[in-house]
Amino acid sequence: ASWFGHVEPAAKDPILGVTEAFLADPSPDKVNIGVGAYRDDNGRPVVLECVREAERRIAGSTNMEYLPMGGSVKVIDESLKLAYGEDSEFIKDKRIAAVQALSGTGACRLFADFQKRFLPDTQIYIPTPTWANLHPPKIPDLMYFLSHHNIWRDAHVPQRTFTYYHQESRGLDFSGLMDDIKNAPDSSFFLLHACAHNPTGVDPSEEQWREISHQFKVKKHFPFFDMAYQGFASGDPERDAKAIRIFLEDGHQIGCAQSYAKNMGLYGQRAGCLSILCDDEMQAVAVKSQLQQIARPMYSNPPLHGALIVSTILSDPELKNLWLKEVKGMADRIIGMREALKENLERLGSPLSWEHITNQIGMFCYSGMTPEQVDRLTNEFHIYMTRNGRISMAGVTTGNVAYLANAIHEVTK
Ligand code: PMP
Repeated sequence: ASWFGHVEPAAKDPILGVTEAFLADPSPDKVNIGVGAYRDDNGRPVVLECVREAERRIAGSTNMEYLPMGGSVKVIDESLKLAYGEDSEFIKDKRIAAVQALSGTGACRLFADFQKRFLPDTQIYIPTPTWANLHPPKIPDLMYFLSHHNIWRDAHVPQRTFTYYHQESRGLDFSGLMDDIKNAPDSSFFLLHACAHNPTGVDPSEEQWREISHQFKVKKHFPFFDMAYQGFASGDPERDAKAIRIFLEDGHQIGCAQSYAKNMGLYGQRAGCLSILCDDEMQAVAVKSQLQQIARPMYSNPPLHGALIVSTILSDPELKNLWLKEVKGMADRIIGMREALKENLERLGSPLSWEHITNQIGMFCYSGMTPEQVDRLTNEFHIYMTRNGRISMAGVTTGNVAYLANAIHEVTK
């Protein structure tokens, strides 16, 4: 027997089960609203035209050399402009340490390792719920299926959670959130979703972000922003960066994970950026060199092709404009489907409030349906989604929204 004969299969990611069941279902009515990637109004994956054009420009014109250890300087420069603002004084003063990362996940992991290495006794506060593909955890251990939890767990950073979602209103539990911020020990690390909170679609308002930022100052907390949906939420990357900009205005030092998976549709290219705002240029140089040092034994240097696509698009005004138009197109389709879903439910005479469908933002709608209601949707209506009631709005189309609304009405009445 091999020395690893005792190894058991890892617990299956529940989202895979959803997809498998969807594919195996022969029903012509079947709907997949479990997907975590954008789909067009025909339910098909999308490659943006700006990406196609960038690929045409790249084709045959570059070599296949390694990128520098910190990744593409152009991607980093463009990413910082997106997150911190075109005219950011922090960029001018070279106060930001940044490296190209393996999309948002890789950026989070690099940060978690950095946190562990240079402040070994800290912990990270993660919102409840957070990014995951899972039904709500029933036993505490299951919490560790959730992606954010997994990332910091594997970096050996102890975790705490903070209040975020308010079940009854299907909105933000702002007072609970503020209490947890106040009650955390001074100088705690908090993971914040910069926009389009996954899985709830619930974001603080601008006013609430200001209060959160203020309280962070009082408590000297460190905010780490996971920004996986910039532009994809409202359709405007500037608007989606508002939370970060508020914290910057207030003089916080922040960390930030950026991903081009959703907003450029570059899922499999693993293009992203990790940045940390430092006191001055000297510190930024030091921090960047340490981030590279952490990345080196993991994957040496990040992949080239996605980086070339991103930098080609963002550094060319014409392509960038096309991207802005296309990212708005994706956001608008989703916002439109939210309205259509809500209208259909109201037209069917559902006595429940569905305001949260349009109040929430981004790829997901946290519907408030129970695991049992989701089971009925699947068993009786061939509708596939995760049991936490999370609807991927990307899977909703003009063609299936009425069918979906009817099914939701049936299982919730
Ligand atoms: N953070 C959040 C909140 C997400 O929803 C996602 C993707 N679902 C990610 C990070 C990371 O995605 P990727 O690694 O593909 O950029």
